[in-house]
Amino acid sequence: MQLKGPRRLTTALLSVTVFGLNACSASNGATAPSAAPGTTGGTAAARSPASQASTIGTAGIGDPDFPTDGNGGYDVENYALKLAYDPPTRKLSGTASVKARAAQILSRFDLDLHGLTVSKVNVDGRPARFTRQGDELIIDPATAIAKGAMFKVAVDYAGRPDPVRNSSNLGTYGFIPTKDGAFVTSEPNGAKTWFPCNDHPADKATFDFDVTVPSGTTVIANGEMRGAPVTSGATSTFSWREGHPMATYLATITLGKFDVKTGKTAGGIPAYAATDPAFRSDLDFLYSTSAKVTDYWSKVFGPYPFSSTGGVIDDFSAGYALENQTKPMYGGFQPDESIIAHELAHQWFGDSVSITRWKDLWLNEGFATYAEWLWTEHNGGLSADRTFTDYYSSKDAAMWKYPPGVAQRDDLFNTSVYVRGAMTLQALRRQIGDETFFKLLRTWTAQHKYGSATTDQFVNLAEKLSGRQLDDLFNAWLYKPVRPTLQ
Ligand SMILES: [Zn+2]
Repeated sequence: MQLKGPRRLTTALLSVTVFGLNACSASNGATAPSAAPGTTGGTAAARSPASQASTIGTAGIGDPDFPTDGNGGYDVENYALKLAYDPPTRKLSGTASVKARAAQILSRFDLDLHGLTVSKVNVDGRPARFTRQGDELIIDPATAIAKGAMFKVAVDYAGRPDPVRNSSNLGTYGFIPTKDGAFVTSEPNGAKTWFPCNDHPADKATFDFDVTVPSGTTVIANGEMRGAPVTSGATSTFSWREGHPMATYLATITLGKFDVKTGKTAGGIPAYAATDPAFRSDLDFLYSTSAKVTDYWSKVFGPYPFSSTGGVIDDFSAGYALENQTKPMYGGFQPDESIIAHELAHQWFGDSVSITRWKDLWLNEGFATYAEWLWTEHNGGLSADRTFTDYYSSKDAAMWKYPPGVAQRDDLFNTSVYVRGAMTLQALRRQIGDETFFKLLRTWTAQHKYGSATTDQFVNLAEKLSGRQLDDLFNAWLYKPVRPTLQ
């Protein structure tokens, strides 16, 4: 994620910091299922606290800052979303099929879903009982699922998606209706506004999308299209597949009127760019810049992890861009090279190597911001070290008070997570030298490709490759509420 325009200290935050808690997460906390027996029938297992722990999947995946985000007890392998959307009525309907493996015996488990009406739930083809509590869809399969078993949940649902609005984290996100369709960007936890899911980056899965819209509307999802859209009567169905694991917040079915350009980068990576008609004149720039940035990062960060690259400009004035996997989305503005470099760096840092807990967000945003500095240097502008020095002399007290290694749940996208996170990398580079530093970045993206990782793992790898003890450096830069002294 990155704000439209450069992040300037002291001013950048004004556009994203609003009063109050993240409404979505706060209401989750208040209405989280207590796992109390009796709410859906009270089986013998549900009445015994000891066995509850072993047969009921928890309402959260275990992220202490977002206690009801994601769910426990299973790991999703694939989402198959067969959906229809009608822009004039703003109605979404269809079936989400979730294929998962049970990590424990499951007599009950949750999916995350915000709003929308569920009409039917099947587990392995058999009807299952279900209830709604806040943003939890609680499912009781007809028979308990064995530990280690693969199972498939099919959820039929419909309604008008209700995106998260005015959050302190990111303004409006999730499935956002637009004049001609929808702009779909879900960081951190807005995927549940359009499909039932395990809504946390610690559980990644492959995705299949079949989306039916009025003919003349284009659907843009992650990965690649599976053939041309199929038109039947007044509707067209677009089929897309993302065959690499993806966090739920990176999934998109942005749709509307679009001009599209496809081809390959000079390095041979399939490329796709699309612009709303209001941004038609930016299509060639978006396409060619995305292509050259992808090729350059492939040299600096290691092989491009996905099967295609690209970018999309819609006319919804989100005021930010999001690194949706293979399809970064730019919300209502002309992206410059810097923000394109940022969002495409996320394909390595955030999308392929994902975070395990939101507090580690600097592993995404610090790295993508550092990539902006590298891009500037690559193009003959300020060196990354000079950018570091300029920020270091900044009198911005807020950044020095906010340790970027612990992103705060109600202020996840603080400038410190971005800029001081990036400074952490330059401070590290100064200490371990260029050769080891860039080897570290490439080793990191290779070791955790398609997985989820933690800050501790990054620190350990940096120490291993450099042969140095780096606790003092990382402690000062990531965890102390004061400006670090320079070594
Ligand atoms: Zn970002």
